[in-house]
Amino acid sequence: MSSKVPEIFGSMVFNEEVMRQRLSGACYQGWKTCIEEGKPLTLEIANEIANAMKDWAIEKGATHYTHWFQPMTGVTAEKHDSFITPIENGKVMMQFSGKELVRGEPDASSFPSGGLRATFEARGYTAWDPTAFAFIKDGSLCIPTVFCSYGGHALDKKTPLLRSIDELSRQAVRIMRLFGDSNVKRVIPQVGPEQEYFLVDKSVYDQREDLILTGRTLFGAKPPKGQELDDHYFGSIKPRIAAYMAELDEELWKLGVLARTKHNEVAPSQHELAPIYTDANTACDHNQLTMEMMKKVAGRHGMVCLLHEKPFAGVNGSGKHNNWSISTDTGLNLFKPGSTPSQNARFLLFLAAFIKGVDEYQELLRCTVAIPGNDHRLGAQEAPPAIISIFLGDELEGVVESIIHGTKYVEQGKRQLNIGVDSLPQIPQDNTDRNRTSPLAFTGNKFEFRMLGSSQSISGPNIALNTIMAEELSQFADVLEKADDFGEALNKLIKETLTAHQRIIFNGNGYEDAWVKEAEKRGLANLSCTADALKTYLLPKNVELFEKHGVYTKEEFAARSEIHFENYCKVISIEANTMVDMVKRDIYPAVCAFMKEVAGTVAAKKAALAELDCSTEEKLLRTLSGYSRSLMEACEELENAIGQVPSGSLAEEAHYYRYTVFAIMEKVRAAADALEVITSNKFWPYPSYAEILFSIK
Ligand code: ADP
Ligand code: MG
Repeated sequence: MSSKVPEIFGSMVFNEEVMRQRLSGACYQGWKTCIEEGKPLTLEIANEIANAMKDWAIEKGATHYTHWFQPMTGVTAEKHDSFITPIENGKVMMQFSGKELVRGEPDASSFPSGGLRATFEARGYTAWDPTAFAFIKDGSLCIPTVFCSYGGHALDKKTPLLRSIDELSRQAVRIMRLFGDSNVKRVIPQVGPEQEYFLVDKSVYDQREDLILTGRTLFGAKPPKGQELDDHYFGSIKPRIAAYMAELDEELWKLGVLARTKHNEVAPSQHELAPIYTDANTACDHNQLTMEMMKKVAGRHGMVCLLHEKPFAGVNGSGKHNNWSISTDTGLNLFKPGSTPSQNARFLLFLAAFIKGVDEYQELLRCTVAIPGNDHRLGAQEAPPAIISIFLGDELEGVVESIIHGTKYVEQGKRQLNIGVDSLPQIPQDNTDRNRTSPLAFTGNKFEFRMLGSSQSISGPNIALNTIMAEELSQFADVLEKADDFGEALNKLIKETLTAHQRIIFNGNGYEDAWVKEAEKRGLANLSCTADALKTYLLPKNVELFEKHGVYTKEEFAARSEIHFENYCKVISIEANTMVDMVKRDIYPAVCAFMKEVAGTVAAKKAALAELDCSTEEKLLRTLSGYSRSLMEACEELENAIGQVPSGSLAEEAHYYRYTVFAIMEKVRAAADALEVITSNKFWPYPSYAEILFSIK
């Protein structure tokens, strides 16, 4: 296998190399020019590419094609059409035209539109994103596309991402010119998402209605062993998991995904896969493919892959670390501290822009990770906290401090340096001083945004990071382009910016209560749950940000807000209804049957020997009966609550689901979990946490 890796890598991708081989010189050049200049393809070029794609796909065994797109559900969508076209004598030939390649019209009326389609046109269309390569999956040629309404409104997650990438490039190039760089044509955000997941045996999964319907366990008492011993993290990988990982890698490599690192995570049955970073557009596509493949390959191994943020209470949840940096088309990473004063000045300018942006748009960044599953992680004594802050590490924070205070910076144990943009110390590239509790950490030459949930599309957070950075760079460029003395203006700008936004920098332990108090003093937002965070989504500054940079129109952005609120309400509603169903049809009947058995034991003992002591059984019966009562009362309360959802704004509805419905769900769970630990295994209707978490032998 190992010798074959370079051969299979990208073998299912119609990539640049394949295009170079299979297209005429004129067509290939035409495609390249279109990409470089962001222009639409001519029909002639599209026809030639379509035909070459079809021939290539058929050679690889494909029979169908699909416009593969990313609607606002956060997962991908596809509708498959075969290449067949009828000809004479009841025969068919395989055909695929440029028109079909470039544009599709899915009957997309069932995708969430947040009201966009109702206001504009009823249908949507898909259009090929020629910057992303087509690939073959399950016998279909998949064409990565954007999805828009006829009114031109983006109905997907890819269109705004592409817009944000372009805008960031435009603004960053302005800055590069100011530093005398006339070569750079484009600046491209780079993303490496580390994906966490759980694997459980299919046989236990199939017995859990909650896992099947909601992706997480709604019940489950703490097992005798969880992650206390830390014996799973980076532990040796079990053969069954290793076989799964090997097949997953191979499937991903075929699709050109740069799968690189794999290891066991902290919780039992939890694992991680990290790819090598790539441009943000490809990284988003690839992360979607990775999640899809994780699930598909698990099925072939008799397992189920859980991507939910918190499948199990009491053990770690799953997140996705979004490693983000920006680099030029000439290969410079703009977050890499340089070795010359001028490079360091540039680095500090980009750093200052990032710090300012995160401080100013902290609510927006929080919103991009506000999904119901993430509420069980963020701010719930688990990594990372819900308050946005930036970790810089001691060295860089020392540099920032000395710039702010105009003091000397002493490199640890080394010479003293005068701070000023011309005389910066060399900043160590490999900042190994990792702070795992920080939501946004500088790790040497990139920022790691650690708040993302494992199940979510990474588009939203990256759209926000790109656009925020574009905004700050545009402000900086406006000032610096007008300056008479560039060096002086730069010094001033960096110092003023760092001084004004220092409050967002925090190097300490983000789990401590002291930080919550300190953050409040600093005036930082603490939006602990989705329902609260989303209330800040449509803040005027956010709407203006996206409008100004052409990433979202006001309507498009409002539509996203509506979809996020709706999704939250629907998820909690499904969870609550699933709970009621499980309690009434499984848990309560099981406990009753067990009580009957215990009562039968009492009767049998007394009948056999009247003087036998039955106090143990009686005590158990009393406890069972007491918890059953609490359970059924809470369950009734939950049913009533579900039936009384207020008909106000979506924000009010979400608030109700969080603070009324969800609060009662916790009571229901507490009673059921208390019953689980005193009910005989023989009667309990579901596999226990121990059985699920250790289901892979
Ligand atoms: P960790 O210790 O957090 O696991 P790694 O060094 O393994 O960190 O990197 C994690 C991810 O960050 C990988 O996907 C890697 O490709 C990505 N990464 C590394 N450098 C950059 C960069 N300059 N920009 C974006 N992502 C990067
Ligand atoms: Mg990491």
